[in-house]
Amino acid sequence: MLQDKIALVTGASKGIGRAIAVALAKEGAYVVVNYNGSKEHALNTCKLIEEAGGACESMCFNVAEEEATMEAMKTIVEKYGSLDILVNNAGITRDGLLMRMSDDDFEAVLDVNLKGAFHTIRFASKQMLKQRNGRIINISSVSGIIGNAGQANYSASKAGLIGLTKATARELASRRITVNAVAPGFIETDMTDRLPDAVKENACKQIPLGKMGRPEDIAEAVVFLASDKAAYITGQVLCVDGGMAM
Ligand code: NAP
Repeated sequence: MLQDKIALVTGASKGIGRAIAVALAKEGAYVVVNYNGSKEHALNTCKLIEEAGGACESMCFNVAEEEATMEAMKTIVEKYGSLDILVNNAGITRDGLLMRMSDDDFEAVLDVNLKGAFHTIRFASKQMLKQRNGRIINISSVSGIIGNAGQANYSASKAGLIGLTKATARELASRRITVNAVAPGFIETDMTDRLPDAVKENACKQIPLGKMGRPEDIAEAVVFLASDKAAYITGQVLCVDGGMAM
């Protein structure tokens, strides 16, 4: 389904990003597996892709750093001649109540989750405009739709990502480039694993389908949005959350 497509997945060393990278590669895309610090994990993602018969390479850069991100993306286009699918998945949390939240914790989350996506989209959109084709998929969150106590910084970044998605979708639609967001609910990854058990139990009670999601649930939605089947869908937010945000 995605043969000959070049895909970049940010934050693909583990969790949701890893599942997305593997799923895109299984559909035939060549996947650039981005990571920031977890080299071993990124190499494991590559191993899983290769074991599944896919092709990929890992690439280390911090999406919050504009210059490093631009250099890396330039390298991808020079090497492979195109960039067809961009998945902005890299994300961090620095949870805490707003009253006690430091500027550093607010800015760090905005820098990675929102500004990082701005950096990659700005580069990718220029390349995709030349190609007159492309798919951009941003991984937002239910926290960006319904908010979450203790996550003012994270919710703001994920709501911002939805605005960025819609504005970019309008700017790029005339060139057959679609831009959509996927908003995961509560998914089993390292990010949620470190939450206290009481928080996890309470979160599960708010999920109509009654259980946490798996990274693969998000990957399925991303593969669909990256495919020709979704060619007439742009500017949308697809919630994959067991019904949390309905
Ligand atoms: P995770 O297991 O903590 O993985 C985060 C990934 O992002 C890692 O691969 C990490 O790579 C990468 N990353 C972090 N900072 C980066 C940076 N500055 N530059 C490049 N890569 C960076 O998280 P996850 O649960 O899979 O979450 C993935 C995405 O889904 C995030 O955007 C998150 O906000 C969103 N999401 C998750 C859930 C959930 O319940 N898990 C719910 C809603 C939305 P390194 O380790 O190499 O730094």
